[in-house]
Amino acid sequence: MATTDNGQEQENQIGHKDLAHKSLLQNDALYQYILETSVFPREHQCLKELREMTEKHPWNLMATPPDEGQFLSMLIKLINAKNTIEIGVYTGYSLLSTALALPHDGKVLAMDVNREYYELGLPIIQKAGVEHKIDFREGLALTILDEMLKDEKKKGSFDFVFVDADKNNYLNYHKRVIKLVKVGGVIVYDNTLWRGSVVAPPDAPLKGYIKQFRGDIMELNNYVANDATIEISQIPIGDGITMCRRII
Ligand code: SAM
Ligand code: CA
Repeated sequence: MATTDNGQEQENQIGHKDLAHKSLLQNDALYQYILETSVFPREHQCLKELREMTEKHPWNLMATPPDEGQFLSMLIKLINAKNTIEIGVYTGYSLLSTALALPHDGKVLAMDVNREYYELGLPIIQKAGVEHKIDFREGLALTILDEMLKDEKKKGSFDFVFVDADKNNYLNYHKRVIKLVKVGGVIVYDNTLWRGSVVAPPDAPLKGYIKQFRGDIMELNNYVANDATIEISQIPIGDGITMCRRII
């Protein structure tokens, strides 16, 4: 079984409607204020539908929160991204945010080991009229990326990459996507503050999946902080994201 944000072993699952608990923002009322003032009124009807459908799914904790989806959409537009990659699709909230943000002839190569998750959101993606921008590949992301890297033309050809799959492979993904993204292109790693556990004391009572991948997230954080080929910015939105801009 592939590992995910919730490691598929979530104890005491938190419902997606308790979104405040997915955010690192400590004040629930403030987070609710952001959602109600700035996010929900502008959320595309199909994103809302996909979010509400996902709320009923057992692994809804994996979904990208809507404020983060809005941020990714803004970023994609700001950098005029046209050719993008997504690693880790689930039911497709970040994928639909990306596809809606891309120009009509933009493309997102989206990969996930689990096609069934993608197919749950697919009818809504079709309704949104953006399926033509999506090239979905079912399989292990490392295998797909290694295959892509055999094609010299693919190197340096992507404007934007969103990484949100198995945390134990983040560093392996970085070593590959850094070659696929162009100089000036952006990679975003999701969950880089890992529910705040990156600063937890050694004896902290962490949930199993948090404890399991905490070291992998910290390894990625330390690696990118020292990687001279990129500029970075770590932002406490959602569960923490790290933006990396390739400079060499
Ligand atoms: N970005 C998604 C969203 O907005 O809802 C959430 C992605 S979820 C956190 C992680 C996804 O990564 C799961 O759908 C899981 O099937 C997929 N995954 C886990 N390990 C993988 C692997 N080795 N290769 C490809 N996909 C993988
Ligand atoms: Ca995530």
